[in-house]
Amino acid sequence: MQNEWKIREEMCDVGRRLYEKNYVVANDGNISVRIGKGRFLCTPTGVSKGSMKPADIALVDDEGKQLSGPKPRTSEIKLHLQIYHEMAHINAVVHAHPPHATAFAVAGIEPPAGILPEVEIFLGQVPLARYDTPGSQDFAETILPHLRQKANTILLANHGAVACDKTLEQAYFHMETLDQYCYILLLARQMGRVQTLNEPQIKDLLEIKKRLGIEDSRVDAAGQLCTLAGSDEFLRGFSQRAIAQHQADASGCGRGNGIAGACSQAGTVQPMPRSEHAAASQAGIRPLGLGSSSQAVQKRAADDEMEQLTQVITDRIIEMMSQES
Ligand SMILES: [Zn+2]
Repeated sequence: MQNEWKIREEMCDVGRRLYEKNYVVANDGNISVRIGKGRFLCTPTGVSKGSMKPADIALVDDEGKQLSGPKPRTSEIKLHLQIYHEMAHINAVVHAHPPHATAFAVAGIEPPAGILPEVEIFLGQVPLARYDTPGSQDFAETILPHLRQKANTILLANHGAVACDKTLEQAYFHMETLDQYCYILLLARQMGRVQTLNEPQIKDLLEIKKRLGIEDSRVDAAGQLCTLAGSDEFLRGFSQRAIAQHQADASGCGRGNGIAGACSQAGTVQPMPRSEHAAASQAGIRPLGLGSSSQAVQKRAADDEMEQLTQVITDRIIEMMSQES
C-alpha cells in the first residue's frame, strides 16, 4: 500500500482531472480509497474537486463515521461503502456527473454493449441503477444488483455515474472511458447508423478479458461464455448493421440488439415504432435515420420526411415574402 500522503495527493489529482474535464462542476462528485481494514480516505463535502488539498481529505471507518479531517466527509459515503463491503478486491471509487454518460442516465437508457473493443474489455455492459434520493442508504443500495453482476461502472438514473476498481487510476479511467463512449454513441447516432460487433467478435474480446483477469457478467463462474444479452434500447429506431466478420457464423447474423443466444437483427434496418415516429414528428423532431425492415415502412418514412421538408420550405417562403412586404 502506498503511503497515505501520496494517496491523498493522487485523490486531489483525480479531483482536478474530473473538474477540468467537466465531469463535475461546483462541489459535485466524490472520491474514496480503501487504505486498510475498515479505513477509507474520502473527499470532503462542500469542496470543489478542482481545488482540493491533501489536508482536506477525510478519514472514515467502515460505517462512514469520520475519524479525522478538517471538513465533514462526503454525504455520499454510503454509496462508496456499499461497493467496498460487496467487493473485497475494490480499493477505489469515483462518483461524478460526466455529461454524456449522465445524458444516458437522464434519458433512462443503458449504453449498448458490443460496439467498441476497449469498452467491451474494460467496462462491459454498463447497467443503469434505479433512481433514489442521493445520500440515502436506499440510494446506496440501488447499485447492489449490478455489483453482483460484476459491473465496475454503473449509471445512476437522473444523477450520474459511479466507477470502481483495484486502483484509483483504474476507477478514474473507467469514468473517462464511459463518457467518451457515450459521446461517440451520440455522435454515431447523429450520423444515422451504428455498426455493432457480431457474436464471434465479442467472444474474442471476452476471451482477452478473461486472460486479463477482468470479470464480466457474460462469463460464468466456470469461465464459460454465456449470454451476450445487453441493452438494445439505444439502438432501436434507426439504422444499424453488423461489421464484416473474420469468422462468419452460420446464419451470417451479428449480435445486433443483444437478444441472448438468438440471431440478432443487426444487418437489417430496424423500424422506428410508428408511435415513436408520430410523437417525434409531433414534437417537431426529425427521426434519426429511416429505420424500417420493409419497403412500405421505408416509403412511409421517406414520405414523412418529404412532407416535413416541404413544410419547412413553405414556411421559409412565407417568412421571406412577409419580410419583403
Ligand atoms: Zn452525485
